[in-house]
Parts: sequence; structure tokens; C-alpha cells
Amino acid sequence: MTTKQRPSFPARLDAKPVATPAKTAVPVLKSVPATPQGVGMDSSAVRMRMVQKLQGQGVSHPLVLGAMGAVERHRFVDSALVNQAYEDTSLPIGLGQTISKPGVVSRMAELLLQGGAKGPHGKLGRVLEIGTGCGYQAAVLSLLADEVYSIERLRGLHDKARENLRHLRLPNVHLLFGDGMEGYAKGGPYAAIISAAGGDRLPQAWVDQLAMGGRLVAPTVMPGSAGNTQALLVLDKTPQGIRQSILEAVHFVPLKSGVA
Ligand code: SAH
Repeated sequence: MTTKQRPSFPARLDAKPVATPAKTAVPVLKSVPATPQGVGMDSSAVRMRMVQKLQGQGVSHPLVLGAMGAVERHRFVDSALVNQAYEDTSLPIGLGQTISKPGVVSRMAELLLQGGAKGPHGKLGRVLEIGTGCGYQAAVLSLLADEVYSIERLRGLHDKARENLRHLRLPNVHLLFGDGMEGYAKGGPYAAIISAAGGDRLPQAWVDQLAMGGRLVAPTVMPGSAGNTQALLVLDKTPQGIRQSILEAVHFVPLKSGVA
């Protein structure tokens, strides 16, 4: 089930995330030498504008801002959608699934970093992502954590993520094909667990595989809500027990069981 990504190509993440809070809140990123098709002259400038918008929405963690500025989102979407890659919108990635909005990816990443157990470098230890999709969020997480285990239940998307990430040198990202509702016990316990798909209950395996002091962030269908309204659920595993809070409404693809 586990396959490590160890491609030989040089990294295409065009900047390292800023590890310490900078005087200017937006990290300075060096520009991309190549001109990506359809994204204008310089994709790093477009990303920088996206990062500024994210800051305007309240995202402030320097590691998160650095990662959002570094990962080339346009390389994860269909060529016909490249022009929309840096808008704050979800986009289709095939098989009825979507890449999450940058606003949601950065919001959830920040929630993880605010809660999950971190090392001296300020990064999370091991992170489990449910719903690899096109692999974009896994690439973002790779800059925020020591190890990223990412599970996808659709073979077509698992393969697509593998292809998308091939050119990135991300030895700390482990792509897995399987049912994420079972988690991935071998990689745990996890400092943080993040789901990119929402179900009406939280799988017990996720809670079990969360480390003490760890944080889980997942969209969850609100019980009894009309039209299956989802909200972000934040769960902390503390020595005093499980603490949960429900945050803002969100809209994610459904969490499904089994593989296809
Ligand atoms: N993080 C992704 C978002 C993909 S959308 C990205 O950056 O592109 C959510 C994904 O969750 C979909 O690809 C869907 O197939 C997947 N998914 C839904 N239920 C799942 C499950 N039980 N296990 C693993 N993946 C699941």
C-alpha cells in the first residue's frame, strides 16, 4: 500500500517557506525562472497576490503563507483551468472531485499548526491527510510537517497525484491508495490529521491514530442539518480527554468508504 515518492528531478517549489516571522508579513519569494503557460509573465507574482489576499482573510502563520507562496497550484490543475489557479476557488480535478480553495487549504493548515504538537523548528511531526486528490494540499503540507502520509480512495486520482508530484522532490510525502476512513495506523500516531472530504461522523480510527497533544481538522456534516450542511470540526486529543469545536460552514466533497 505504501509507496514513497523519491523522484530524481530537482525541486519545483520555487522558494523555501519562511521559518521565522518576518518583519514584513508576506514572505519574499524568489521568482520562477520559467514562464508557465497561461499564468502571465511570472507565476510567483500571481501567487504573491494570492498570499496577500489570504492574509487579508486572516491567515497569518509565516510557515503557511510561505508554503502557499511556494507551491505552484497551476501545475496541479487541468491546462484549461490554469488561469483560475490562483483565484480563491475550488476547481474540478476529475472523477467528480475538486481541489480545495486556497483560502480553505491555508485556513485548515493554520488550524493544524496552531494545535498539533510541533518540533523545535515549529513544524508538525507526522501528518495524515485523507483525500490526496491532485496532490496540491499534500505538497503544501510537506513544507509544514516532517512527514506527510496522504491517502486517496480513487485510483485515478492517486495516480494523478503521483504524476503531479513526480517533478517535486518531496521525500517526506508518502502517497497511499486505500480507504482513508481506516486511517493509516503504520504511519501514526500523528501530530495532525486533516481530511479533505466530509462525512456525517468522524471515523474512530482517526481519533485512535492521533497522538496525544495532536489535532484533527475535518469537515463534518452537521447532524440534522438541511441539505447536509458541513462545518469545520477541530478535535484536540489532550491528557484531560477529547476537546472538540465546530467552526465555520464549509463545502467539501463527501467522504466515502471503500476504494474505486
Ligand atoms: N487535498 C486534495 C483535495 C481533494 S478532494 C487536493 O489538494 O486536491 C477530496 C478527496 O477525498 C477526493 O479525491 C476523494 O476521492 C477523496 N476521498 C473521499 N473519501 C475518501 C476516503 N474514504 N479515503 C481516501 N480518500 C477519500
